[in-house]
Amino acid sequence: MTTESLPGDVREEADFEGVTEEVLDERIAEFRQILFEERTKIFQNVKRTLTEDMTIDLEELADDIDRASVDQNQSLTFRLRRRERMLLDKIEQSLQRLEEGDYWWCDECGAWIGFKRLRARPVTTLCIICKEKRERKERSAIR
Ligand SMILES: [Zn+2]
Repeated sequence: MTTESLPGDVREEADFEGVTEEVLDERIAEFRQILFEERTKIFQNVKRTLTEDMTIDLEELADDIDRASVDQNQSLTFRLRRRERMLLDKIEQSLQRLEEGDYWWCDECGAWIGFKRLRARPVTTLCIICKEKRERKERSAIR
């Protein structure tokens, strides 16, 4: 195994070697479950945010609390929901990739992504090397 190499060198081809169709079927079931759970978590989060929103509105009606802090709260929950929407999209995409068999392969270079990386980031579409390349590009674009 290549666990001792530097992060970024670890492509985890190794865990592809022994993958039979049966193993892959098991993994598909495992990752489907992981993605479903992620989706449930987000739904629960959204529900909680919505309940909190209603509380804010009621408080606003009841006593005239500081407007600035209400606005800040609302833009925060708005941002949260946008983030959650994006995450939900990613989960849907991943589920589709899973059904189509593309889930295990890097969108950019076609390399095996690896179960370990996918367990840590179930919605990723990139292998670690392409991901790091992209992050480096994004960082240099900001500067
Ligand atoms: Zn790649």
